[in-house]
Amino acid sequence: MSSYIEEFESKVKPKDYYDRLYDELVRLNPRLNAFNALIKPDKNGIPLSVKDNICVKGIEATASSKILKGYIPPFNATVVERVLKTKRFSIIGKTNMDEFGFGSFGINCEKPAKNPLDEERVAGGSSSGAAIATALLKYHVAIAESTGGSISAPAAFCGVVGFTPTYSVISRYGLIDYANSLDKIGFMARSADDIRVMLDITKGKDNRDPTSTDSKIVGLHHKKLVIIDELIDKVDEKIRSQFFEFVEKLKNLGYTVKNINLNEIDLSIPAYYLIAMAEASTNLAKFTGFKYGFKLNDFSKNYNEFFAEAREEFGTEAKRRVILGTFIRSASVKDKYYSKSLIIRKELIDKLSKVLKDAFLISPTMPIMPPKISEANSMSPVQNYATDILTIPPNLCGLPHISFPYSYSNGLPLSAQIVGSQFNDYGVISFVSEWEKNFEYKFKYNIGEI
Ligand code: GLN
Repeated sequence: MSSYIEEFESKVKPKDYYDRLYDELVRLNPRLNAFNALIKPDKNGIPLSVKDNICVKGIEATASSKILKGYIPPFNATVVERVLKTKRFSIIGKTNMDEFGFGSFGINCEKPAKNPLDEERVAGGSSSGAAIATALLKYHVAIAESTGGSISAPAAFCGVVGFTPTYSVISRYGLIDYANSLDKIGFMARSADDIRVMLDITKGKDNRDPTSTDSKIVGLHHKKLVIIDELIDKVDEKIRSQFFEFVEKLKNLGYTVKNINLNEIDLSIPAYYLIAMAEASTNLAKFTGFKYGFKLNDFSKNYNEFFAEAREEFGTEAKRRVILGTFIRSASVKDKYYSKSLIIRKELIDKLSKVLKDAFLISPTMPIMPPKISEANSMSPVQNYATDILTIPPNLCGLPHISFPYSYSNGLPLSAQIVGSQFNDYGVISFVSEWEKNFEYKFKYNIGEI
């Protein structure tokens, strides 16, 4: 059976199943930092984790920030509401992440996440905890979120399947926004079939998110794969050669592969970071020490002192983005940076849409293997941002994409990413379902096995 959800539902669970699962996670969590909060499930249903920037009624949501400590949402995000309504899931915890989604390695937070396959290495980010939980638990699905690669990157580093839908397909109501024009809620699981179940349950128009849509989602399974040379050139030599072996396997399975050039793709990183930071700086403006989470109750201070002190609570990367994002939006440079980035985004959408009419894009998911936490800590911001080169293009363009393992090297997964045309979400999922018929994923942990 390829759906762990269905397999779980067909089994009789021991009475103490959830207690044992909970105890095991309580034991492991201080080592790996996968969860910001663990919840003892009191119901039946497949264990479900929720990224800590998505609201679950009555459970603290911090987005791994200090400034939101103590914020308890009085409502469920629409995605959570839709999942819980089926009565097939049981929430086990809120997962760790880079603060507000700012990062690619899961280390821009109080407790850096560790890769369960090699604990000296990063788990990937920003949805680090979602990927770790999926790598640990045999029966489990993670609700995660991506702005510029936060689902693909950690899924790739931890060896699980990570799906990011077309922008607008899943409601963002109840998400603590990073960059509204880029944020997408998606999923991680151990099989493409489980991802399909989650999309079926959660997709579609939500009146509380005006950007959500009821457009028809299709499942076109193309046999043509396109490789963009400018992207492959940026991949580490070792990963590149393994990736080409994988491409040969796909050819044997009946796929055709075409290489193309797309010079503009190099502009996707600057365009993405300019737009993302501009939007992030306005979204963070509401965290003032008054309303949400952290409260600064010293009213003897003057206006500037009060807000400066409250916003001291932001981490380094959040501060960097507030400062740069505010600069990018300022009247004197707006046309030079922000407006140009929007033009680049539009141009990339047009170009990629043409390519994707009858094909999928394929590439490795990450250009490097998961670095050691110490190595990632010593990267400059620009080096850090550059590692997003393969995951940013589909995110910037709002296109559905999915990351999945295709091989292993020294116990670490090698993962590839498939990108589809707008609303061909079921198409990219079905590509991975097909692949899973020819390749068995390896998991080091199978916690909760029955
Ligand atoms: N690494 C990217 C960033 O920091 C993407 C993170 C994300 O998708 N939330 O913006």
